[in-house]
Amino acid sequence: MTAKVTVKDLHKAYGDNEVLKGINLEVQENEVVVMIGPSGSGKSTFLRTLNKLEDPTSGEILINGYNLVDKKTDINKVRENVGMVFQHFNLFPHLSVLENVILAPVELGKMSKEDAKALGMQLLTQVGLAEKADAKPTQLSGGQKQRVAIARALAMKPSIMLFDEPTSALDPEMVGDVLQVMRDLAEDGMTMIVVTHEMGFAKQVADRVVFFADGYIREQGTPEEVFNNPQDPRAQDFLNKVL
Ligand code: ADP
Ligand code: MG
Repeated sequence: MTAKVTVKDLHKAYGDNEVLKGINLEVQENEVVVMIGPSGSGKSTFLRTLNKLEDPTSGEILINGYNLVDKKTDINKVRENVGMVFQHFNLFPHLSVLENVILAPVELGKMSKEDAKALGMQLLTQVGLAEKADAKPTQLSGGQKQRVAIARALAMKPSIMLFDEPTSALDPEMVGDVLQVMRDLAEDGMTMIVVTHEMGFAKQVADRVVFFADGYIREQGTPEEVFNNPQDPRAQDFLNKVL
């Protein structure tokens, strides 16, 4: 097995608010890790440190063997490898769906516009939106926008995908389509870390469920272990409320 992500004793503080208090986690290639836990427990902060959107206060982060804390590491190379999808999709309203998807690889000179368009159409097909390629984001539903955001992240050909509550801002009837795209990605072998409150998705798709509370990983295991027999009192309490 190859570790795609290795996190050792990660701490992150905002001023005197210590948000991450010593996180240790290894994610293997092709593994799907689902993170659950109460609001404010540091899940988003943790994901953001993996993409260097936040700098850790201390600790070690290795992504594909690159040390994120080492100033010599070319962070753009690391970021190209790590796709991220947020709750809010932030598509450019003046660009078409296809233009949104291919913007980053073309701007960064990763591929020609022609190749990017072919890849973009392939990705839009993958997320079920090929017929919307020329539409503007305002013409799409929230769920469709989020699927475009996933295609946009995939256009950089990442080897790891991070999802931060990708369905939390969606109307309930849109959630299923987005989760299906994520399920397909997982089945194709993408290495994924997903923060979500969708416990059904966690049960079905996660190789491992990680429970965050108060800046610590309090519990982790297979979905069966965590959902059916949680050991940590906070995990028991949280799961009693959400299941
Ligand atoms: P979660 O995603 O689990 O809800 P977050 O990582 O968003 O938790 O937040 C954890 C804590 O960090 C909260 O107390 C929040 O107020 C604080 N926090 C998050 N981002 C920032 C920031 N940019 N500046 C200051 N405090 C922050
Ligand atoms: Mg969050």
